[in-house]
Amino acid sequence: MPILRIAVAKPLRTTFDYLPPLDCDDASIAKLQAGTRVEVPFGRAQLVGILVSRAPESEVNQTKLKRATRIIDPISLLPKPLFELCLWASQYYAHPIGEVLTLAFPPLLRKGVETNAPHNAIKLTPEGHLAPQGILRSPKQAALIERLQSHEATRSALKAEGFSSGIIKALIDKGLAMPCRIEDTEFSPSESGPQPTLNSQQQFAVAQLSQQTGFKASLLYGITGSGKTEVYLQTIANTIASGAQAMVLVPEIALTPQTAARFQGRFGATVGVLHSGLTETQRAREWERARTGKLQVLLGTRSALFTPFQKLGLIVVDEEHDSAYKQQDGFRYHARDLAVKRAQIEQCPIVLGSATPSLETISNVNIGRFEQYTLSTRAKAASLPSWQIIDVRQQRLEAGLSQTLLDACHDTLGKGEQALLFLNRRGFAHTLLCHDCGWVAECDNCDSRMVIHKRHNRLRCHHCQAQKPLPKTCPSCHSSHWQGVGYGTERAELALQSLFPHTPIHRIDSDTVGSASQLDHILDAINANQTGCLILGTQMLAKGHDLAKVTLVGIVDTDALLFSSDFRAEERLGQLLTQVSGRSGRGDSPGTVMLQTHHPDAEIFHQVIHQDYMETASSLLHARHQTGLPPFGQIVMLHADSKDPSEAERFLNSARHTLTSSLPKNHVLIGPLPAPLSKRAGKFRYQLTWLAPHEKNLHRFVHVIADTLTRLPHKSELSWAIDIDPHDFL
Ligand code: ADP
Ligand code: ZN
Ligand code: ZN
Repeated sequence: MPILRIAVAKPLRTTFDYLPPLDCDDASIAKLQAGTRVEVPFGRAQLVGILVSRAPESEVNQTKLKRATRIIDPISLLPKPLFELCLWASQYYAHPIGEVLTLAFPPLLRKGVETNAPHNAIKLTPEGHLAPQGILRSPKQAALIERLQSHEATRSALKAEGFSSGIIKALIDKGLAMPCRIEDTEFSPSESGPQPTLNSQQQFAVAQLSQQTGFKASLLYGITGSGKTEVYLQTIANTIASGAQAMVLVPEIALTPQTAARFQGRFGATVGVLHSGLTETQRAREWERARTGKLQVLLGTRSALFTPFQKLGLIVVDEEHDSAYKQQDGFRYHARDLAVKRAQIEQCPIVLGSATPSLETISNVNIGRFEQYTLSTRAKAASLPSWQIIDVRQQRLEAGLSQTLLDACHDTLGKGEQALLFLNRRGFAHTLLCHDCGWVAECDNCDSRMVIHKRHNRLRCHHCQAQKPLPKTCPSCHSSHWQGVGYGTERAELALQSLFPHTPIHRIDSDTVGSASQLDHILDAINANQTGCLILGTQMLAKGHDLAKVTLVGIVDTDALLFSSDFRAEERLGQLLTQVSGRSGRGDSPGTVMLQTHHPDAEIFHQVIHQDYMETASSLLHARHQTGLPPFGQIVMLHADSKDPSEAERFLNSARHTLTSSLPKNHVLIGPLPAPLSKRAGKFRYQLTWLAPHEKNLHRFVHVIADTLTRLPHKSELSWAIDIDPHDFL
C-alpha cells in the first residue's frame, strides 16, 4: 500500500505518513507530484498538508495510519525548482519543512481553497454572442444576454443589478453563457515619457546582463541616483522579449506606489505586485498570475521570493544590503541569499543592486563567484554633497540638535530649500558615554564595547565573559555626566516645532507612517513644497526616495552604532551614512551633509567622507578576515526565551554541553549570555553564539543540535530557535 509523506504547517521537524484517500486508485497516486496540497486529519483538526514524497510503505504500523481526506490539487501547484528551493531552505536553516512549504502558497490557498475555484464571473459563449434577439422568452434572461454583450461581469455585480442566480444558471444551462474568471483590473501604462538613453556604463551592464543564460550572479554597484533601476528596467525588457518572466525584490519600505508605478509605466498590466498590505484575494490572484505565466514582472518584498513562476528568466534584488531581507523570527531566512540559491536552481541570472553592497556580496565578487558592474556617475547632472563634521562634545543640544545644525537649517529654509534631519532610532541606548570627554565603556579583553544591562546594573561584553558594575564616575575625567545615547524623533519634532513655528515639518518614522501609500502622500507633499520645509525621520528616509529639493542633510545621532555590540555595526553605519547623504543635492543645487558626533575622530566617518564606499568596505572586510567573522566564518545563534529567569540559561547550557562534545576544535561557542535586550514580552532571553569556520558540513552539526534541542527536556513555556547567519543580535 503506497504511503503519502505529508508536511503540515506546524513547528515539527518531521513529515507524517498517511494512507491515500479511499477514492484514489494506485494509478492516480503514482502520478501525484511533490508539492500537491492534501487535506489530512491531524489531531482533532483537518489541516491542509503538502505532499513531500510517496513511499512504498511506512515505518508506522499500517493499522495506526490515518487516511488522507482528499487530494486538493489535481496537479502540484509548486513547480519543481520552487519545491526544491523550499527543501533546501528547510535544510539550510534547520526549519520545519511544513512551515517552509506553506510560505510558497498565498494565505488563501493555505486554507485549502482551490485555485480554479474563483470562477467568479460570467461571460457569453460564442452561441450567446450570436443569439438572435427574441430567442429567449424570459425578458430577464434576454436582459442578461444584452448586459454581457460588451464584456463579462462578476456574479456579485450581476446580483446587485437584479439578476438572480436562477437566471444566470438558466443561461448557462442553455449553453449561452459560461463561468469564467475576471483577471486583474487592467493598469493602463501611465505616461512615463520615452525611456532615457543609457550612458555607456548602463549600456554595458544591460548588454552583459541580457546576454546571460543559465545561472550567473552579478552585483550592480551604482552610487545613489546612478540609474540602477533604469538598468533593471531595460534588462527586464529583454527578459520579457525572450519570453521569460522576471522577479524583482525590494525592501518593504522601498515598495511604494511610486516604485510600482515606475514598473507599471514601463510594462503595463503585466506587472504584478506582492506585499503584506494586500488582501488575501489580491495576493492569491497575483500568485496565480505569476504561476500561470500571465504576468511578466513580479515586484515584491521578502516573501515574494517564494512565488511560483511558469518561466523565471531573471531575478533582481534591489538594495541587496538591506537587512529587511532577513526574517527576524519564525523561519529566519535571508531572501537575498535564497534568491541566489533560487537562481541557481532555476538556472537563471540574478542581479543584486546597491550603492552600498553588503560585505558578503563584495566578498563574493572578490572570490570570483559574482560578476560586478559599476555605475560611477549620477544619471542626472547632480554633484555629490560636501561633508561637515560637527563635534557636539560639551555643546548644548536641543533635543539632540546642535546650534550649528539649527543655524544651517535656518539658512536652508531661508533660501526656500529643504533640510532633512536623520535621527537613527535603531539601536537601544546601550552605550555608556561620558558627555564631557566622550569616554566609552569598553571591554578589557576584546576590541568591543560593553553593553549596559540595566536589570543587573552591570556592563557586559558579548564577545567574552567579562562583566563589571556600572561605574559611578568617568574613569577618564571623573565627571558624572553620563549619557545614554539616543533621542527619539518625536522629541526632536516637538523641539523643531517651537524653534521653527512657521515651517512645515514632516516626520517620517514607523509611528507616523503606517503604510506605503501614507509614505507616498508625505513624499508627494514634500516634493510639492515650494517654500522650504523640514523633514525628520528614521532609516525609512535612507532608502532610495527621490527628494529633489533637499540641499541639507543633518545626521543627528549615529554614535549608538559606533558602540553597538553587533559586529555589522560599522558596515551598517557606512551604508547608512552613504545612503542618507545620497538624499542630498539630487536636484540642481549641490548639497551639504552635516554629521553630529561625540567622536569626530572616529575612523569610519573619515572613511565614508574621504573614500569611495568600496574602499571603506574593503578595510572593513580586512577586519572581518582577521577576526574570522562573516563572510569569512559563519555564525549560528541559538536563542532561548523563558519566563523563568534561569530556565533559558539552563537550557542553553545543556545545549552547549552537547555541542562541545561533537564540535571540531576550531569552532567557538560564546555563552549562554543574556541577550542585550534581556527581557522581552515578559520572557528572559539568552543566546548561545556559535562561530564556525566556513565549511560545507556545518549544517550537519546544525541538524545534530536541532535534534538535540528538540529532545532536551524543558519547561513548556520555554521557546528556542536556531538562527543561521543571524543579523539581529538583540
Ligand atoms: P538608482 O536606482 O540608481 O537610484 P534611478 O534608475 O532611479 O537610479 O535613476 C535616477 C534618476 O535618473 C531617475 O529619475 C531616472 O529616470 C534618471 N535616469 C536614469 N538613467 C538615466 C539616463 N541614462 N539618462 C537620463 N536620466 C536617467
Ligand atoms: Zn569623561
Ligand atoms: Zn570581551
